[in-house]
Amino acid sequence: MHDPSTAPDDGSGTLFGLDALASGPAAAAPAAGPLLRDSAAARRLLPVREIHAEPAAAASPRGRQVLARFPDARVVEVDSHWGIPGLHGNEGNVERWVRVKGETLVLGERKTLTTRPNGRSADWIAPGASNGCAMACAYCYVPRRKGYANPVTVFTNIDRIIAHLGRHIARQGPKREPNQCDADAWVYDVGENGDCSVDALICDNTADLVHAFRQWPTAKASFATKFVNPDLLALDPRGRTRIRFSLMPPDDSRLLDVRTSPVAERIAAAGDFLDAGYEVHFNLSPVVVRPGWEDAWTELLRHLDDVLPDRVKRQAAAEVIMLTHNRDLHQVNLGWHPRAEEALWRPEIQQAKRSESGGLNVRYRVDVKAEAVARLRALVADHTPWLRIRYAF
Ligand code: SF4
Repeated sequence: MHDPSTAPDDGSGTLFGLDALASGPAAAAPAAGPLLRDSAAARRLLPVREIHAEPAAAASPRGRQVLARFPDARVVEVDSHWGIPGLHGNEGNVERWVRVKGETLVLGERKTLTTRPNGRSADWIAPGASNGCAMACAYCYVPRRKGYANPVTVFTNIDRIIAHLGRHIARQGPKREPNQCDADAWVYDVGENGDCSVDALICDNTADLVHAFRQWPTAKASFATKFVNPDLLALDPRGRTRIRFSLMPPDDSRLLDVRTSPVAERIAAAGDFLDAGYEVHFNLSPVVVRPGWEDAWTELLRHLDDVLPDRVKRQAAAEVIMLTHNRDLHQVNLGWHPRAEEALWRPEIQQAKRSESGGLNVRYRVDVKAEAVARLRALVADHTPWLRIRYAF
């Protein structure tokens, strides 16, 4: 059974506390300081021992970069980065999954390069440069198709991904109508199936994307993150990358956001990221309706108002996303983190809907959700009136 205080490899999320990194001054002057990805803290999150690699991916420049970063790792040749027995699936238990997430990487080539329309968080969902995550949030949708123990797959053909994006952006031309995604730029979510901040501990895929977008004046990259990686401060995004720090009340986060940076640390990093050239937004997500949730969100919003610098507030916007859960994930979680399910699985106020991929997704009932969204909007208006809500879903 998982409990944040006893989670393997410190599920409390304090693993990457800024204290542990001693990164206060370094965060303000990133280029001069040591890189997080070379630190002992990074090795604790990603003590990579085994790399499953498609041969072409291993032989590529990006693949060679990853292999050089983890020279002691055993390399296992695989035909495909999908469905690797023993890696992808729900067999075993949380100790094993967390071990797999940290100790294993997969190198593959992304075969399908498709940019999908979105219209909510971003105008477009870009083909990601990775799939999978070293963290283990209890509600995460990323493992639904690959099973819980899905470590990070790095797609090594980043040059093809960027070339595809360049063509897609060129085809759009300038954005003529402002929308809630952005007033001027086409927004591309580049981190749909992972966390780009963690990916930056592994290789330069995130850096390459940030650098690419600064050449495209009609477009902007965007990714959500629950991990504070000060190495990103040195990438000089020139306003063309939006980083969205995901926030939820710290008590919820300690229960649900396993292996992530503490919420206070994500908030404290906002000013540094803005000063480094990022646009800084927030994802108020997922909103988990549980006894006392309104008080907890009130406290979080008051904290935001107290500590964020005015320059962050002036440009900030937020997405509000109510929890979506999943029946299969619920069953998986019962085996390792039943306390999380007490908050996530509330059949008396939820309804199920079959997803396109055949799974049974569970959302708050329409009336419950409408009331909760209205309540959260009111709390934002009261406590963080400067925080424009881009959309609430
Ligand atoms: S950080 Fe994001 S991608 Fe990673 S486990 Fe949590 S929700 Fe999933």
